[in-house]
Amino acid sequence: MYPNGARAGVPLLSTNASYIKPKTLDEAVTLLAAGDARILSGGTDFYPGLGDRVVCDPVVDVSGLEDLRGISRESDHFRIGGLTTWTDVIRHPLPRCFDALKSAAREVGSVQIQNRGTVAGNLCNASPAADGVPPLLALDAKVELTSQAGLRRMTLTDFLVGNRKTKRRGNELLTAVLVPRELEDAFSAFVKLGARRYLVISISMVAVVVKTGNDGKVLDARIAVGSCSAVAQRLRTLEGDLIGESVFGGLGRLVKPKHLASLSPIDDVRATADYRMDASLCLVQRALNAYTEIL
Ligand SMILES: Cc1cc2nc3c(=O)[nH]c(=O)nc-3n(C[C@H](O)[C@H](O)[C@H](O)COP(=O)(O)OP(=O)(O)OC[C@H]3O[C@@H](n4cnc5c(N)ncnc54)[C@H](O)[C@@H]3O)c2cc1C
Repeated sequence: MYPNGARAGVPLLSTNASYIKPKTLDEAVTLLAAGDARILSGGTDFYPGLGDRVVCDPVVDVSGLEDLRGISRESDHFRIGGLTTWTDVIRHPLPRCFDALKSAAREVGSVQIQNRGTVAGNLCNASPAADGVPPLLALDAKVELTSQAGLRRMTLTDFLVGNRKTKRRGNELLTAVLVPRELEDAFSAFVKLGARRYLVISISMVAVVVKTGNDGKVLDARIAVGSCSAVAQRLRTLEGDLIGESVFGGLGRLVKPKHLASLSPIDDVRATADYRMDASLCLVQRALNAYTEIL
């Protein structure tokens, strides 16, 4: 067996499917214009998702669009290009609010997966267990989608609409993730629970971003939980309840089961719904208490 599930001697592309690797964004959006092509980037979700099937649609391999790779600081946001890998995120110097995203990046599969897998691929694949989603939801990230018709931007919250479902149109490429700079000095943390330490799909994961004043009182708090609903969720009631509270003594003490009421975890091979709920409560408490531990 090959790692992607294909068998030796069995082609990945059907004989009438095409494979094209554009060199420019213009070329890529022209190839995508008909709306029936499948985008291939790092391939770390694309290939395992095929299982034993062959690809019958045209494949547009965007991994050669080097201009879309990298992270830049703009006047009011950070721009994470659509070809930026998890390793790029780990290596790029970024302010404190990105600590959660960097921690998540280190938890994606293994170093080999982090070298190939992209942030954009993680979002477009829209798995409920995508580790990149909670940190980016907590950062109020937006996505930028490009087609021949031009650009459109929307919040990540609006982009992700269900298990493996997004608002991306068939002719659009995710060209960037945009993170507002408003909380760049805020504390952030990511905690993930899996059945083992490495190469593991999350049972639950939590990202927090917390901004405090000089008196240690919370000015802004964002908390997102993944793997416990079809789409990762922000815990808005808890976020509101933390405003004005002091981080001294640990914010985790303020987290109650009612704050997680909007989650709807499922039973599956990795954990029961009840276990996911209990674990998530504990992970939210730990992520928030991590702030006090560094003071
Ligand atoms: C062994 C293994 C372990 C893994 N462990 C984890 C883990 O711990 N946590 C985790 O979150 N994920 C994990 N993954 C999943 C995967 O590595 C990540 O989701 C990765 O970020 C996907 O990026 P990619 O570039 O490889 O996407 P691809 O596989 O190339 O594409 C994924 C999907 O997104 C679409 N797409 C890709 N880029 C774009 C774009 N720019 N615009 C529009 N559509 C696009 C593709 O058409 C496809 O539908 C693992 C995968 C493997 C094989």
